[in-house]
Amino acid sequence: MAELSDLPLRANLVGKTPYGAPQAAVPVSLNVNENTHPLPEAFITEAAAAIAEALRGVNRYPDREFLELRAALADYLDAGLVPEQIWAANGSNEVLQQLLQAFGGPGRTLLSFTPTYSMYPLLADGTDTKWVGVPRNADFTVTPELVVSAIREHNPDIVILCNPNNPTGTTLSAETILAAYDAFDGMLIVDEAYHEFNAGAESAVDLLPGRHRLVVSRTMSKAFAFAGVRLGYLAADAAVIDALRLVRLPYHLSALTQAAAITAIRHSGAMLGTVGEIREQRDRLAAALNELGYTVHPSGSNFLLVGGFADPNAVFETLREQGILIRNLDIPGHLRITAGTESETTAVIEAITALTA
Ligand SMILES: *Cc1c(COP(=O)(O)O)cnc(C)c1O
Repeated sequence: MAELSDLPLRANLVGKTPYGAPQAAVPVSLNVNENTHPLPEAFITEAAAAIAEALRGVNRYPDREFLELRAALADYLDAGLVPEQIWAANGSNEVLQQLLQAFGGPGRTLLSFTPTYSMYPLLADGTDTKWVGVPRNADFTVTPELVVSAIREHNPDIVILCNPNNPTGTTLSAETILAAYDAFDGMLIVDEAYHEFNAGAESAVDLLPGRHRLVVSRTMSKAFAFAGVRLGYLAADAAVIDALRLVRLPYHLSALTQAAAITAIRHSGAMLGTVGEIREQRDRLAAALNELGYTVHPSGSNFLLVGGFADPNAVFETLREQGILIRNLDIPGHLRITAGTESETTAVIEAITALTA
């Protein structure tokens, strides 16, 4: 086999590393913020029938505009949006990639506030967009003042605000989002991948009227327990979707994906039925780790960023040997832990307690 360096790779990809969250079959997997609860049986039965029906038609290309799914997503968002304001793709990663293809590219800049989702710089690399990461405040908050000064300094074409933020769990105020929107004339993307875990929080979807450069990204991968299907979506002005049609691959959403997702949204009450329990486990984990003397950062999500580990990598490895996978993101002294089921959460609390004693 040749080396990567033997290939005429695009210059801005030289020396880069791919997305690499470990994927291992362990009993307790709490490293990529999935919903670890089983899916509702009634959904499985109905989705299997819907997929079987869709299979009868797979000799033909799928509905390229997937309007039934977009109508279902508009209904789910319950914000008075029409299907023309909704778009979807294979995970919100693809939605974000399409946004960068349309609004980023050579000579353009994407700005986000670090630490944040590790895919933003990778998506920038893949679309030859320059990425600027501006550090958050020491407590991981992003204030209107910070957003405005960062935008003034770096003059970005695109800003992504992650709310709640991965990996810190930090939530964002509407004032910060509005300050960002008003501070520049580029595209503002609010990534709400974890919105359903953020009890009672306002969604930036409500800020869309009159703001044609605002995009709200969502996913079914987290609260909906649907990571394996790959369905992410966005809400925006219909003109934004016209821009994405220029870059998307035709027929990008398979007929099977469309059938599964439409059924899941029909069952959204049951699909999201474990969200309250996950929040309880998150809070139980936070209380236990606080008790042990760790620093637990406030989280509006289904995971916690925890500080106070003298050697995070050693803790990560020791837990991995015990069949518990958490996330080491190279934030000094910190580890990220997804809230799982009651027994998974108990396993991680007991393992860390044993290490601390
Ligand atoms: C998990 C995650 C996503 C979702 O990615 P999908 O491609 O929809 O699975 C998007 N944004 C953030 C911040 C995430 O943590």
